Amino acid sequence: MAEFVRFMERSNRSVDAKVGTVHPLALAAMQQTGEIVSQQKGRGSQRFLQGGLSAPMTVTWEITAACNIACIHSFIYPGIWQVLERCTMRELVMCISTNGTLITAERARRLKQFAPLYFQVSLDGGIPQTNDSIRGKGVFDRAIRGLEFLAAENHSLTVNSVLTRHSFYELDLLYEIAASYNAKLRVTRLRPSGRGQDVWADLHPTQEQYSEFTDWLMNRPDVLTADSFFHLNAFGTTLAGLDICGAATATCCICPEGEVYPCAFFQAPEFEAGNLHELSFREIWQNSLLFDYYRKMGGGACSGCGQYNVCHGGCPATKWFVHQKLSIKDPECVLI
Ligand code: SF4
Ligand code: SF4
Repeated sequence: MAEFVRFMERSNRSVDAKVGTVHPLALAAMQQTGEIVSQQKGRGSQRFLQGGLSAPMTVTWEITAACNIACIHSFIYPGIWQVLERCTMRELVMCISTNGTLITAERARRLKQFAPLYFQVSLDGGIPQTNDSIRGKGVFDRAIRGLEFLAAENHSLTVNSVLTRHSFYELDLLYEIAASYNAKLRVTRLRPSGRGQDVWADLHPTQEQYSEFTDWLMNRPDVLTADSFFHLNAFGTTLAGLDICGAATATCCICPEGEVYPCAFFQAPEFEAGNLHELSFREIWQNSLLFDYYRKMGGGACSGCGQYNVCHGGCPATKWFVHQKLSIKDPECVLI
């Protein structure tokens, strides 16, 4: 019988049922944010997500840490076909994030047997120079070829682009490229995790760019952003998508060695909620001590802000990787 996703805070979970430990650094940082203020009415995503859902709406599963270029993972994981078969059998909605460089006509054809299957092909610039300065020489052309092969098989496509100080000037171009492959454009925020940590200070957009970008987004409701830019709501706008961090409440990330983290951009060892070699996914999602503290975090320095109900303090992962604190304002707070 199907099990429906429900609000966990409405279940009768006992504190004793909590599993795992919390790293002292993570515990101190989460406790410094104060207590969550429940939001039962009014607008905003918090009233749906507070306390977490009984199962995540999305899980980022990083199936390999290996890579054929200088950034994220790809099809070079030989077990990908078995993973897709099992997920198809369980009727899971699958979305593969790929750099696109190893997509061939034959692979694009073979992938048609799996459904529902979506692809995100990364392009971090609308021209080779911008993209390749981040992702490696020749990657732009190879990603475009991958897009062509996928589009030829009528796969559901999204072009995923991380907004940087440089790619900002190529947003229109990226929009056109996506449209030419019948793909949606998805723009995401540059988070200072992983390799992004080294380049974040130089590449993250300026306040002026963010202001213009907000207008650009408001005029293009078909551009996807997920939870990337809800901190820009503090400009006084209402962008589509979640207006609160969904980590540990609506999403989480599973890494190749089985570690489970609050989200794909919060892979700090001190924020590991548990490991699938030791605990089941259900135990970690529903009873992890770290997730429990994470779900109860308060607003910290943002508590008195007049925009808190639309910005919610921004992205915890960005705060952590830039300043190793969670009780501060988002480092890209637009009111600073
Ligand atoms: S920690 Fe940041 S990147 Fe992760 S889900 Fe929350 S807002 Fe998004
Ligand atoms: S002070 Fe905090 S809640 Fe207010 S706009 Fe800045 S980051 Fe958002």
